[in-house]
Amino acid sequence: MIKRNPTREVRIGRILIGNGNPIAIQSMCATPTTNIEATLKQLKSLDEAGADIIRVAADNKKDAQALIEIRQHTDAVLSVDLQENYRLAEILAPHVDKIRYNPGHLYHHERKKPWKQKVQYLVDIAEKHDCAIRVGVNAGSVDPEQMGKYPREDSVTPMVDSALEHSQWLDDIGFTRYCVSLKDSDPRKTVDAYLKFSEVRPEIPLHLGVTEAGMPPEGIEKTRIAFEKLIGRGIGDTVRVSLTLPHEDKHQEIAAGRQILKDISEGRVRTVVHFDENKLNLISCPSCSRVENEAFIDLAQQVKVRTKFAEDHALTIAVMGCRVNGPGETDDADLGLWCGPNYVNLKKRGEKIGAFKYDEILDRLDTELTSLIETAQL
Ligand code: SF4
Repeated sequence: MIKRNPTREVRIGRILIGNGNPIAIQSMCATPTTNIEATLKQLKSLDEAGADIIRVAADNKKDAQALIEIRQHTDAVLSVDLQENYRLAEILAPHVDKIRYNPGHLYHHERKKPWKQKVQYLVDIAEKHDCAIRVGVNAGSVDPEQMGKYPREDSVTPMVDSALEHSQWLDDIGFTRYCVSLKDSDPRKTVDAYLKFSEVRPEIPLHLGVTEAGMPPEGIEKTRIAFEKLIGRGIGDTVRVSLTLPHEDKHQEIAAGRQILKDISEGRVRTVVHFDENKLNLISCPSCSRVENEAFIDLAQQVKVRTKFAEDHALTIAVMGCRVNGPGETDDADLGLWCGPNYVNLKKRGEKIGAFKYDEILDRLDTELTSLIETAQL
């Protein structure tokens, strides 16, 4: 039995989180939302695997129309990920159970409108259509105003402050039907962020996750490190294990989440699992509807094989599925790749090297990785 912090109860469709309710397991569709058939197929497989809540991204009106159509064919508890276009909430709220917004993305549209007005707008819509909200803070896209207040090496405090600021505003305007997430790709920073937030606002339900954890088994182990430390302290009301997987295997995220929760509840905590800073750290995103070339998933797997020669070097390689979040999410990596329809972009320690065809990128990555290792050995 997992002992839990007494958080507020929040209803998301027929699912209750917080206040000692069972920890809900979530996943997200990685198929293009406009591909209704593929998205429904993935939704069904996640639902059958036991997903309590399934998130689907909507970036534009075509996605929104597709999601409305998808809703007609499933009774799964649905959360919409608004990505940058927060005004899509108006179209989609009648059809979903939860709205996820990212404070760092509220700035992209109507730049002059204060964020508090935008949140008020989302709250009005959520209340009208019986939706819960998730304030989803992500290390790769933190509110630029918060980032500007702290030195670059401190990525955790801006995340925590952003989450605290939004929580306070939601409370001030009388909306408490929300949960918060603070995800980083580094499990240690993830733990740090959740602990700091929970210390100040222990009553707010938390959705746990390590973003861009990568492929199994490493991605599951990174997530396990964070979940053991947080859930072991009673923190966490809902979880997602974000893994880079082929579409037909996406349901494995649910089994992985369930296994970690089962192990923790039965006391099988793998204290030996630790994050080895002296090894190659491969980060890859779980993919979503923004992926423009499905070859991304194969590429992530090939990067893992091709870089094995460097496994004993303390370097980070990030492989991201899209051109929207890819550039930002690869900023802190030694080598970062992000995928477009025909080319893969490559960056070395923040400097863009170029764009390479899918059949050229691995050779160039090999060259750059070898050069980083040689330079470190001089
Ligand atoms: S990096 Fe792009 S493709 Fe990957 S999960 Fe994030 S938004 Fe989706």
